[in-house]
Amino acid sequence: MSVLKISEVSKIFAGPTVAVDKFSLDVADGELVCLLGPSGSGKSTLLRMIGGFERPTSGLITIDGEDITHQPPEKRPTGMVFQSHALWTHMNVFKNLAFGLKLRRLPASEIKQRVEAVLELVGLAGYGGRGVNQLSGGQQQRVALARSLVLEPKILLLDEPFASLDQHLRERLREEVRDIQQRLKITTLFVTHGQDEALAMADRIVVMRDGRTEQVDRPDIIYREP
Ligand code: ADP
Ligand code: ADP
Repeated sequence: MSVLKISEVSKIFAGPTVAVDKFSLDVADGELVCLLGPSGSGKSTLLRMIGGFERPTSGLITIDGEDITHQPPEKRPTGMVFQSHALWTHMNVFKNLAFGLKLRRLPASEIKQRVEAVLELVGLAGYGGRGVNQLSGGQQQRVALARSLVLEPKILLLDEPFASLDQHLRERLREEVRDIQQRLKITTLFVTHGQDEALAMADRIVVMRDGRTEQVDRPDIIYREP
């Protein structure tokens, strides 16, 4: 069953630059799709349109059959993790995670329970009281992921979340994210320009070029190509 439907979505910036060109894709419930392609191929713009941070010039995006094309980010059942995590450095880890739940007026006991559960999930149990600046880059990205997950999004959107980390850490985090994604069975779109990353993580890979789909296939099929 497809959860996310992207139908003929385009984004044309002034210039004009056609960043995304009549892009269509159906994503199944629980699937992890990697958007792979060179810099400038429209991956980030597409993801931002799904998350509500960029307005499509035309086209339709639905989640569970509901048209969300023009809904603001906070009204969508999506959670986005950016390349630069943008955590609130004046708040400790717990407060970073609790913030969105407080806005939703959840009772304090439930907030505490959900924050602790998600910290455990990302391997940071007991880190709630730490200052964000005391954490390593990898730990900060785990907090950024946790901050999205704690709101229990239907769809997780990851925009090159490990790009600023070294190779070794990237490989570790990629395994962790894949593991978490499978445990939660959360539908996920993952933007990367690294073929190895896409091959290691994806159920399906969408290869993008010039705002369009060049190829969509399972990783083992894409890898077998000459
Ligand atoms: P990718 O994520 O694959 O690197 P982007 O989605 O960032 O690609 O960019 C696709 C194209 O759209 C590029 O030519 C880029 O310069 C252009 N672009 C992206 N954002 C903007 C913007 N806010 N204003 C104008 N052009 C943009
Ligand atoms: P990415 O790493 O995803 O390719 P970039 O580093 O190209 O993103 O862009 C970072 C930010 O600048 C994004 O918000 C993007 O929308 C914006 N941007 C990218 N290209 C342009 C452009 N040609 N004109 C204006 N803004 C742009």
